[in-house]
Amino acid sequence: MRVRVEDIKAEGLSLEFVEPVEDFPVLAEMVEEGEASFLQPLTVCLRAQRTSGVVAITGTLRTRLRLACSRCLKEFDSDLEVPFELAFVEEMPSLEGFEDEEGAEVEPERVGLIPFDGEEIDLIEALQEQVVLAMPYKPLCQEACRGFCPNCGADLNAGQCECGPPEPTGKFAVLKDFKVRKP
Ligand SMILES: [Zn+2]
Ligand SMILES: [Zn+2]
Repeated sequence: MRVRVEDIKAEGLSLEFVEPVEDFPVLAEMVEEGEASFLQPLTVCLRAQRTSGVVAITGTLRTRLRLACSRCLKEFDSDLEVPFELAFVEEMPSLEGFEDEEGAEVEPERVGLIPFDGEEIDLIEALQEQVVLAMPYKPLCQEACRGFCPNCGADLNAGQCECGPPEPTGKFAVLKDFKVRKP
């Protein structure tokens, strides 16, 4: 997944890539370790623009993931859409004299600048980082997933278990099965 800088004309360059997960080393490793499951290759739509020494690349990356719900452990599928804005620089600017709030020197990498050789930009590393950051940390099959009963382990999405809300007691208990019979 490379962008040749000489192909970026004054009006910019639009590109689309469809890239198998295996081409992203970190993602491929996650798949191998069973930490992630991709149902589709990664589709990247991007627009590249160039000004002297700087290439700005913006776009969206899409794929489909199979995730395990962090509450009920059930597997479910989910679309992942990752918008990105990247800036590649031929020469890392000197940020000498610039200091952050703690008085430490500001490194160009920390303000999001990525170095490249001036001819070609390889997007693999930068984009796989975006995907890793965008993956849900605690996926939920649904916002309202009820997970398991902490007492008996029953799947509460399938219905309330025996330990659930107490049955009505006292004088209203008799009303539970009470039906009005029509004459
Ligand atoms: Zn769930
Ligand atoms: Zn229970």
